[in-house]
Amino acid sequence: MPRYSVSDALVLRRTPLPNGDVVVTLLSEHGKWRAVARKGRLPGGNLARLSLFHDVTVQAYRRREDDLAVLTQVRLNGALGGLTRPEAYPYAHLLAELADALTVDTHVGERLVAVVASGLRGVARHGDPEAVALAYAWHLIALAGLAPHVHGGPTPHCARCAAPATILATADGTLRCVEHGDGPRDVWLGSEGAADLARTVGAPLREAIAAPARERERALRALQAYAREHVGELRALRSLVERNP
Ligand SMILES: [Zn+2]
Repeated sequence: MPRYSVSDALVLRRTPLPNGDVVVTLLSEHGKWRAVARKGRLPGGNLARLSLFHDVTVQAYRRREDDLAVLTQVRLNGALGGLTRPEAYPYAHLLAELADALTVDTHVGERLVAVVASGLRGVARHGDPEAVALAYAWHLIALAGLAPHVHGGPTPHCARCAAPATILATADGTLRCVEHGDGPRDVWLGSEGAADLARTVGAPLREAIAAPARERERALRALQAYAREHVGELRALRSLVERNP
Protein backbone atom coordinates (compact mmCIF):
# COMPACT_ATOMS: atom_id res chain seq x y z
CA MET A 1 0.00 0.00 0.00
CA PRO A 2 1.37 3.46 -0.83
CA ARG A 3 2.14 5.77 2.07
CA TYR A 4 -0.79 7.92 1.07
CA SER A 5 -3.93 6.25 -0.15
CA VAL A 6 -7.40 7.40 -1.10
CA SER A 7 -10.27 4.95 -0.81
CA ASP A 8 -14.01 4.75 -0.71
CA ALA A 9 -15.08 2.96 2.42
CA LEU A 10 -17.93 2.03 4.70
CA VAL A 11 -17.54 2.61 8.42
CA LEU A 12 -18.18 -0.80 9.99
CA ARG A 13 -17.04 -0.08 13.51
CA ARG A 14 -16.12 3.01 15.48
CA THR A 15 -14.25 3.15 18.78
CA PRO A 16 -13.68 6.49 20.49
CA LEU A 17 -10.52 6.54 22.60
CA PRO A 18 -10.20 8.35 25.94
CA ASN A 19 -7.89 10.97 24.37
CA GLY A 20 -10.58 11.98 21.86
CA ASP A 21 -9.13 10.09 18.89
CA VAL A 22 -11.39 7.68 17.06
CA VAL A 23 -10.39 4.28 15.68
CA VAL A 24 -12.53 3.07 12.82
CA THR A 25 -12.80 -0.22 10.97
CA LEU A 26 -13.33 0.50 7.29
CA LEU A 27 -14.49 -1.77 4.51
CA SER A 28 -13.11 -0.91 1.08
CA GLU A 29 -12.87 -2.75 -2.20
CA HIS A 30 -9.27 -3.67 -1.42
CA GLY A 31 -10.10 -5.05 1.99
CA LYS A 32 -10.98 -4.32 5.57
CA TRP A 33 -8.63 -2.09 7.48
CA ARG A 34 -8.37 0.02 10.59
CA ALA A 35 -7.42 3.64 10.84
CA VAL A 36 -7.25 6.31 13.46
CA ALA A 37 -8.59 9.85 13.20
CA ARG A 38 -6.73 12.17 15.53
CA LYS A 39 -8.81 14.60 17.46
CA GLY A 40 -8.54 18.10 16.01
CA ARG A 41 -6.17 16.96 13.27
CA LEU A 42 -8.57 16.21 10.44
CA PRO A 43 -8.27 19.20 8.08
CA GLY A 44 -11.62 20.27 6.75
CA GLY A 45 -13.02 17.25 8.46
CA ASN A 46 -15.01 16.40 11.42
CA LEU A 47 -15.08 13.19 13.41
CA ALA A 48 -18.87 13.05 13.02
CA ARG A 49 -18.28 12.20 9.36
CA LEU A 50 -16.87 8.93 10.60
CA SER A 51 -20.12 7.81 12.17
CA LEU A 52 -21.17 4.19 11.90
CA PHE A 53 -22.39 2.99 8.50
CA HIS A 54 -21.29 6.20 6.75
CA ASP A 55 -20.15 5.94 3.17
CA VAL A 56 -16.95 7.99 3.01
CA THR A 57 -13.94 8.75 0.87
CA VAL A 58 -10.85 8.87 3.05
CA GLN A 59 -7.27 9.83 2.54
CA ALA A 60 -4.95 7.91 4.81
CA TYR A 61 -1.30 8.10 5.66
CA ARG A 62 0.84 5.21 6.78
CA ARG A 63 4.44 5.63 7.82
CA ARG A 64 5.29 1.95 7.64
CA GLU A 65 3.44 -1.00 6.18
CA ASP A 66 2.37 -2.34 9.56
CA ASP A 67 1.40 0.99 11.10
CA LEU A 68 -2.16 1.88 11.87
CA ALA A 69 -3.24 4.25 9.09
CA VAL A 70 -3.88 7.85 10.08
CA LEU A 71 -6.77 9.55 8.34
CA THR A 72 -5.89 12.93 6.90
CA GLN A 73 -9.11 13.69 5.00
CA VAL A 74 -12.65 12.41 5.24
CA ARG A 75 -15.35 13.23 2.75
CA LEU A 76 -18.88 12.09 3.45
CA ASN A 77 -20.57 10.58 0.40
CA GLY A 78 -23.70 9.43 2.06
CA ALA A 79 -25.22 9.21 5.49
CA LEU A 80 -28.25 6.99 5.58
CA GLY A 81 -30.59 9.04 7.73
CA GLY A 82 -33.09 6.21 7.97
CA LEU A 83 -30.60 4.08 9.88
CA THR A 84 -31.00 6.17 13.01
CA ARG A 85 -34.62 5.07 13.28
CA PRO A 86 -34.82 2.81 16.31
CA GLU A 87 -36.55 0.10 14.27
CA ALA A 88 -33.74 0.12 11.68
CA TYR A 89 -30.60 0.68 13.75
CA PRO A 90 -30.19 -2.86 15.18
CA TYR A 91 -30.46 -4.35 11.69
CA ALA A 92 -27.80 -2.02 10.31
CA HIS A 93 -25.63 -3.16 13.20
CA LEU A 94 -26.30 -6.76 12.30
CA LEU A 95 -25.18 -6.31 8.68
CA ALA A 96 -22.09 -4.31 9.66
CA GLU A 97 -21.08 -6.84 12.31
CA LEU A 98 -21.65 -9.74 9.94
CA ALA A 99 -19.56 -8.06 7.22
CA ASP A 100 -16.84 -7.45 9.79
CA ALA A 101 -16.90 -11.09 10.90
CA LEU A 102 -16.96 -12.45 7.35
CA THR A 103 -13.87 -10.51 6.30
CA VAL A 104 -11.46 -11.56 9.03
CA ASP A 105 -9.15 -13.63 6.87
CA THR A 106 -10.64 -13.43 3.45
CA HIS A 107 -10.10 -11.20 0.50
CA VAL A 108 -12.95 -8.72 0.25
CA GLY A 109 -14.36 -8.67 -3.22
CA GLU A 110 -15.83 -5.52 -4.70
CA ARG A 111 -19.11 -7.31 -4.69
CA LEU A 112 -19.19 -7.74 -0.93
CA VAL A 113 -18.72 -4.02 -0.30
CA ALA A 114 -21.45 -3.22 -2.81
CA VAL A 115 -23.83 -5.70 -1.21
CA VAL A 116 -23.21 -4.39 2.31
CA ALA A 117 -23.81 -0.82 1.08
CA SER A 118 -26.96 -1.90 -0.70
CA GLY A 119 -28.18 -3.77 2.39
CA LEU A 120 -27.66 -0.71 4.58
CA ARG A 121 -29.59 1.43 2.11
CA GLY A 122 -32.39 -1.12 2.12
CA VAL A 123 -32.51 -1.24 5.92
CA ALA A 124 -32.61 2.57 5.98
CA ARG A 125 -35.47 2.92 3.53
CA HIS A 126 -37.61 -0.15 3.65
CA GLY A 127 -40.75 -0.38 5.76
CA ASP A 128 -39.66 -3.82 6.98
CA PRO A 129 -35.96 -3.50 7.87
CA GLU A 130 -35.97 -6.95 9.46
CA ALA A 131 -36.95 -8.63 6.20
CA VAL A 132 -34.20 -6.71 4.40
CA ALA A 133 -31.60 -7.61 7.01
CA LEU A 134 -32.47 -11.31 6.99
CA ALA A 135 -32.28 -11.52 3.20
CA TYR A 136 -29.00 -9.60 3.03
CA ALA A 137 -27.44 -11.48 5.92
CA TRP A 138 -27.96 -14.85 4.20
CA HIS A 139 -26.82 -13.32 0.93
CA LEU A 140 -23.58 -12.08 2.52
CA ILE A 141 -22.98 -15.50 4.06
CA ALA A 142 -23.47 -17.05 0.62
CA LEU A 143 -21.08 -14.52 -0.97
CA ALA A 144 -18.45 -15.58 1.53
CA GLY A 145 -18.88 -19.16 0.32
CA LEU A 146 -20.62 -20.29 3.51
CA ALA A 147 -24.18 -20.72 2.29
CA PRO A 148 -26.25 -23.47 3.87
CA HIS A 149 -27.33 -26.25 1.59
CA VAL A 150 -31.07 -25.89 1.26
CA HIS A 151 -33.26 -27.05 -1.54
CA GLY A 152 -35.94 -24.68 -2.69
CA GLY A 153 -39.53 -25.47 -3.35
CA PRO A 154 -42.57 -25.34 -1.14
CA THR A 155 -41.50 -28.39 0.89
CA PRO A 156 -37.73 -28.79 1.02
CA HIS A 157 -36.46 -32.29 1.54
CA CYS A 158 -34.10 -33.72 4.10
CA ALA A 159 -30.48 -33.91 2.96
CA ARG A 160 -30.40 -37.58 4.02
CA CYS A 161 -33.75 -38.94 2.89
CA ALA A 162 -36.85 -37.97 0.96
CA ALA A 163 -38.84 -36.85 4.00
CA PRO A 164 -39.92 -33.20 4.31
CA ALA A 165 -37.24 -31.18 6.07
CA THR A 166 -38.10 -29.36 9.27
CA ILE A 167 -34.70 -28.81 10.91
CA LEU A 168 -31.68 -26.70 10.08
CA ALA A 169 -28.58 -28.71 10.94
CA THR A 170 -26.30 -25.81 11.78
CA ALA A 171 -23.06 -27.80 11.83
CA ASP A 172 -23.14 -28.61 8.14
CA GLY A 173 -25.86 -26.22 7.04
CA THR A 174 -28.32 -28.65 5.55
CA LEU A 175 -32.02 -29.13 6.07
CA ARG A 176 -33.03 -32.38 7.76
CA CYS A 177 -36.07 -34.33 8.78
CA VAL A 178 -36.77 -35.07 12.45
CA GLU A 179 -35.10 -38.44 12.22
CA HIS A 180 -31.90 -37.05 10.73
CA GLY A 181 -31.45 -34.10 13.03
CA ASP A 182 -27.81 -33.59 13.83
CA GLY A 183 -27.33 -32.28 17.32
CA PRO A 184 -28.39 -30.01 20.16
CA ARG A 185 -27.48 -26.84 18.26
CA ASP A 186 -29.88 -27.60 15.42
CA VAL A 187 -32.85 -25.33 14.92
CA TRP A 188 -36.35 -26.64 14.62
CA LEU A 189 -37.90 -24.75 11.72
CA GLY A 190 -41.10 -26.61 11.00
CA SER A 191 -42.04 -27.21 7.38
CA GLU A 192 -43.11 -23.60 6.93
CA GLY A 193 -39.88 -22.28 8.44
CA ALA A 194 -37.79 -24.63 6.29
CA ALA A 195 -39.57 -23.44 3.15
CA ASP A 196 -39.04 -19.82 4.23
CA LEU A 197 -35.35 -20.41 4.83
CA ALA A 198 -34.96 -22.15 1.47
CA ARG A 199 -36.56 -19.15 -0.21
CA THR A 200 -34.51 -16.58 1.71
CA VAL A 201 -31.27 -18.36 0.88
CA GLY A 202 -32.07 -19.45 -2.66
CA ALA A 203 -34.13 -16.64 -4.15
CA PRO A 204 -32.81 -13.37 -5.57
CA LEU A 205 -32.64 -10.63 -2.93
CA ARG A 206 -35.69 -8.78 -4.17
CA GLU A 207 -37.85 -11.89 -4.01
CA ALA A 208 -36.52 -12.86 -0.61
CA ILE A 209 -37.39 -9.42 0.75
CA ALA A 210 -40.84 -9.42 -0.87
CA ALA A 211 -41.73 -12.80 0.68
CA PRO A 212 -40.04 -12.75 4.08
CA ALA A 213 -40.08 -15.48 6.70
CA ARG A 214 -43.48 -15.83 8.32
CA GLU A 215 -42.07 -16.67 11.73
CA ARG A 216 -39.49 -14.01 12.33
CA GLU A 217 -38.30 -15.20 15.71
CA ARG A 218 -37.50 -18.59 14.30
CA ALA A 219 -35.83 -17.06 11.26
CA LEU A 220 -33.63 -14.89 13.48
CA ARG A 221 -32.77 -17.89 15.66
CA ALA A 222 -31.86 -19.96 12.61
CA LEU A 223 -29.57 -17.21 11.35
CA GLN A 224 -28.04 -16.85 14.81
CA ALA A 225 -27.38 -20.57 15.20
CA TYR A 226 -25.93 -20.85 11.72
CA ALA A 227 -23.78 -17.74 12.02
CA ARG A 228 -22.51 -18.88 15.41
CA GLU A 229 -21.37 -22.14 13.87
CA HIS A 230 -19.77 -20.74 10.71
CA VAL A 231 -18.87 -17.12 11.37
CA GLY A 232 -18.97 -16.46 15.10
CA GLU A 233 -21.29 -14.94 17.66
CA LEU A 234 -22.89 -11.71 16.42
CA ARG A 235 -23.82 -9.45 19.30
CA ALA A 236 -26.36 -7.48 17.29
CA LEU A 237 -28.14 -10.68 16.38
CA ARG A 238 -28.10 -11.97 19.93
CA SER A 239 -29.76 -8.75 21.14
CA LEU A 240 -32.44 -9.09 18.48
CA VAL A 241 -33.15 -12.69 19.46
CA GLU A 242 -33.13 -11.95 23.18
CA ARG A 243 -35.44 -8.97 22.72
CA ASN A 244 -38.34 -11.44 22.48
CA PRO A 245 -37.38 -14.42 24.60
ZN1 LIG B 1 -34.17 -37.51 6.74
